[in-house]
Amino acid sequence: MSATRRHPYCFAMKERKNSVPHLYRISGRLMRAFQFALIAVLFVLLSSASGQTLRIYHIDVEQGAATLFISPGGKSLLVDCGKTGHGARIKSIMQKCGICQIDFFVNTHYHEDHFGGMPSLVNGGTTISSAYDRGDKEFLTPAKLNEPAYKEYENLVGHNAKHLMRGETVPLDPSMAVTCIASGGVVLGEEKPAPGVDENDMSIGLLIQFGAFRYFIGGDMANTTEKKIADRDLVTDVDVYHTDHHGSETSSLPAMLQDFRPNVIIISNGNNATYQHPRQKTLDEFASMNPKPLVFQTNKYLKGGAGGNLADDFIADLATVGSNGTITLTVDLTSGKYVVAYRDKSHTIPIKGWTAPGPRLVIASLVPNPVGDDRQLEEVTLQNKGTSPIPMANWYLQNKSGKVWSLVSMGTINANQSATIRRHGMPMNLGNSGDEVFLYDPNHQLIDHFLYTSSHEGVAIVTGH
Ligand SMILES: [Zn+2]
Repeated sequence: MSATRRHPYCFAMKERKNSVPHLYRISGRLMRAFQFALIAVLFVLLSSASGQTLRIYHIDVEQGAATLFISPGGKSLLVDCGKTGHGARIKSIMQKCGICQIDFFVNTHYHEDHFGGMPSLVNGGTTISSAYDRGDKEFLTPAKLNEPAYKEYENLVGHNAKHLMRGETVPLDPSMAVTCIASGGVVLGEEKPAPGVDENDMSIGLLIQFGAFRYFIGGDMANTTEKKIADRDLVTDVDVYHTDHHGSETSSLPAMLQDFRPNVIIISNGNNATYQHPRQKTLDEFASMNPKPLVFQTNKYLKGGAGGNLADDFIADLATVGSNGTITLTVDLTSGKYVVAYRDKSHTIPIKGWTAPGPRLVIASLVPNPVGDDRQLEEVTLQNKGTSPIPMANWYLQNKSGKVWSLVSMGTINANQSATIRRHGMPMNLGNSGDEVFLYDPNHQLIDHFLYTSSHEGVAIVTGH
């Protein structure tokens, strides 16, 4: 699994740099300095923009599933990789995201529509750094063990995959929790009985959390394992449910849906007359839920029978050709919202458990050594960097020796406004030869603090906060 083949995308970027026309090489040093500065600026912009953002791509792999997560820190998790030959579709999404390798791959179960894309992905130049599956390979049938696609999966990553058990986690990003809820038909908190018999029901199920945002994905899990999850209330109140088994009617058990109460349901489906996914019965079940979720499907199902469709506005690829049925989800913890986007459509939805971050009040500057009487004229200036007004009743400043200034006389500080308070005989003093000042909110939570080691008469010390 330590394939060292260079990713063609990364290679392409290198070639582009080398192909700068001769004319521009005249001022090569200047150009390089400029490029370096540009890259540095871009890096800062990207890191600040992505620091609170999780991206999820429900990649259009027709009748199959491949879901790519890009963490706020830029790490990637691919859950399943679609059918044989569909690696190129995954790679094209990776290129759009500017990522060159898959840091973590999870194969939910041993059906070809979930691992078949691996040879085309790896042979196309993608490195899989770390892979997980459910193990239990000694229980697979000879037919499965001899299936060409399975053998290829095994040769490329499966033989080296870690076995992901219920309760274990995938270390995708320090700001996230990726927890295995079910694996091999065994759920969290359950002793392992004899191995399950139904391949779908043995799918790995993951609860993925990013701040208050909660997302469940469970491969082709069916009612038996879903019932165990529901009976134990293992997963409640998710924001997004990626449907088990492409919207099959033997999955998405109503009792589990009641626990999940998702605001959004996403169906990865194709147009297969044998499977007829998604089932109209399942779509009806979703439509009867209270509260009613927004439901999306990657492709329109066109083969009749028991299969069904959502209204066209909620289907990413209406013609079900090519790979343009990908549904993207961007989660932003700063605004507390996520956006579901496909073709020219987008829907913005609030994260269920999100609460606005506390007031962003900072110590902007202080004058420890004013011209004149320190007891009266020492000053502290606070700045409201948040988006709402902050009433200052019960806020206070404290210095290193524990003496305080009440800030009640400051009234209310509006968003983007600064306000200055003078000491006027209050007990706390700002030491002329250094001190530390702490800002507390009415719940005695420390909001900001600033340390200085000297001062000059009449000169304000700007904190840079
Ligand atoms: Zn499947």
